[in-house]
Amino acid sequence: MDNNSLFPSEQQRIEELRMLIRNYDYAYYVNAESLVTDREYDKLFEELQALETQFPQFQSPTSPTQRVGGEPIEGFEQIVHTVPMLSLGNTYSKAELVEFDRRVSQGLDGVQYSYVAELKFDGVAVSLQYTNGVLDYAATRGDGETGDIITHNIKTVREIPLEVSGSLKNFTVRGEAYMMNEDFLRLNAEREALGEKLYANPRNTTAGTLKQLDPKNVAKRPVKVVCYSLYTNDIRLEGHYQNLQLLHSMGFPTHTSTKECATIDDVYNFILHWEQHRSDLPFNIDGIVIKVNSIAHQDILGFVARSPRWAIAYKYEAEKVTTLLKEITFQVGRTGVVTPVAELEPVFLAGSTISRATLHNEDYIVERDIRIGDTVVIEKGGDVIPKVSSVVTEKRTDAQISFVFPTNCPCEQKTHLTRPEGEANYYCVSSDCRWQVVRKIQHFASRDAMNIEGLGEKIVEQLHSLGLLKTIADIYTLYNHRETLQTLDKWGEKKVENLFAGIEESKSRPFSKVLFAMGIRFVGEGAAKLLAKHFKTIEALEVATKEEIQSINEIGDRIAQSVVDFLQEQHNQHTIEQLKIAGLQFEEVALASDEALSQNFVGKTFVITGELSSYSRKEAEVEIEKRGGKMVSSVSKKTSYVIVGESPGSKAAKAAELQLPILSEQDFLQLLQQ
Ligand code: NAD
Repeated sequence: MDNNSLFPSEQQRIEELRMLIRNYDYAYYVNAESLVTDREYDKLFEELQALETQFPQFQSPTSPTQRVGGEPIEGFEQIVHTVPMLSLGNTYSKAELVEFDRRVSQGLDGVQYSYVAELKFDGVAVSLQYTNGVLDYAATRGDGETGDIITHNIKTVREIPLEVSGSLKNFTVRGEAYMMNEDFLRLNAEREALGEKLYANPRNTTAGTLKQLDPKNVAKRPVKVVCYSLYTNDIRLEGHYQNLQLLHSMGFPTHTSTKECATIDDVYNFILHWEQHRSDLPFNIDGIVIKVNSIAHQDILGFVARSPRWAIAYKYEAEKVTTLLKEITFQVGRTGVVTPVAELEPVFLAGSTISRATLHNEDYIVERDIRIGDTVVIEKGGDVIPKVSSVVTEKRTDAQISFVFPTNCPCEQKTHLTRPEGEANYYCVSSDCRWQVVRKIQHFASRDAMNIEGLGEKIVEQLHSLGLLKTIADIYTLYNHRETLQTLDKWGEKKVENLFAGIEESKSRPFSKVLFAMGIRFVGEGAAKLLAKHFKTIEALEVATKEEIQSINEIGDRIAQSVVDFLQEQHNQHTIEQLKIAGLQFEEVALASDEALSQNFVGKTFVITGELSSYSRKEAEVEIEKRGGKMVSSVSKKTSYVIVGESPGSKAAKAAELQLPILSEQDFLQLLQQ
């Protein structure tokens, strides 16, 4: 009997968790955004790990538990790390810490050992490679194995030596790039003055800064680096603490708080100390990192899938502060959900000043008995939207006003709000609701969706209020208003041309992006990809039943129902027709049909460097994918073939270095014909 079918609900939960975690990972590592707190994320991750351990038949090499961090970024050259850049196991309690110590003790078989405790800077990991005493390159962690080369950006960080003297010449330093809270606030104030979008927190700003292609932009941003690891074959390394001292003496920035601890109790005292004093630090930390000191002991303990057995992170709970709740206002999202928002007396928390926080829904407010005029506790983890977690009831007087959810939408239509049975949210059902329309268009044009350059949130609002953008389809007829646009305040010819170029470019976004951009309820990027891959065309999706949609792995009842409902609505059908006329992609290209599959391609990855004369990149990709292969942007040990065209980039050299099979254009053409 098929083993898998014995535990359908566990298997479904595993798939659901993988999908959720992949979405959170993408937001966190690629877009530098947290959609949930670290604690919430770690709970889901732990649940997935436990289920995979309990049901090994559902293990998968592509599960998020088997990989580290994010993905390489387009536009950067990549490098395979000399030593993999791993993640760290997490603990949130003393009991888990003691359990970690027990495992270390067991692994070392009674030998005496000690620990080093360090602040866990909340930033972005970087790797610095020195060859013959000179900074050779700097890289991000990427997927742990391959990172992006960001040497030009790291060189703008003054405290990183570009050259070192002394006997140690060839070595790797690992550290965290971060930003001081004060610098972050100044930077944001400057952006606000220029009317630019504000950054969410120092980590997000640092990540965004390191991804800049122009180092001049980086030099303007006050990024700092603190170093926490050293690897070399030049000399024998004894202990981690000694390594940090050596790094310090060589001129690398290290932090003075790092402490050698003889026992796990000493470690715990260090943790408690910094838990109390973390808000006094001029930068954010999200926990403490604990490492076994002796390198020989580290070698004995080794690694599990994605983290060392000799180190662990003790993560602090999200930071909290209290402040006054001045007012409750309402926001309407693109699906019509009306969300209550707390307007607060501004307060500084975890790297930013907070003046608004979500109150989620009516039940959330009622359960906590939150009243206008209350002193409330605000919580924030990462750049998650801050939330009001509780009320300080001791501070309550007679002056507070109990809250009643409004009956009408704050939009011009003043639509009567409805709360469907079994749901926590109130909805505005008017399709003319200004808020919904604006949010829908903003989502459509946003970076993760159609990525329309020049059509940011403010511009959408402006064009909507001028009556030029009433639906997403109006984006593609904006060129009819060229003259009106050119005469708008602060616009002009260039801005209009840029916008039109951005709109034109968006027409090449793949079907999955279009599906996601249309804003179907519950259909995130992951689900949109699965739908596009399975149904291949909008026509096939339009006639699919809920059951057919649900038959796709990882697509549940809620998503399937929502897709069916969306496609049945007349105005959505009309929008799709208009978008088709505009030339958007409603068909999944690069289909691998069974007849087209070729053994030379199935399961293989291809990288192209340089120009091909017979195919554009896109066409070559289509040919590869048709046959069951995959085109990727970076060269790694796992790449199957590197196709080298005219004027190749450094990927060709890297392929040679890794001794990968290299194909000339002629070889590639032959392979296609076989
Ligand atoms: P991690 O942040 O738990 O720990 C590893 C990282 O810690 C290292 O790569 C390094 O950058 C950093 N670090 C800082 N100081 C250090 C020091 N002194 N020594 C060693 N390392 C130090 O692991 P991760 O793989 O970067 O991320 C996984 C964690 O990120 C998750 O456990 C979760 O808490 C969080 N996360 C959150 C979300 C979300 O949506 N909230 C999404 C993905 C990941």
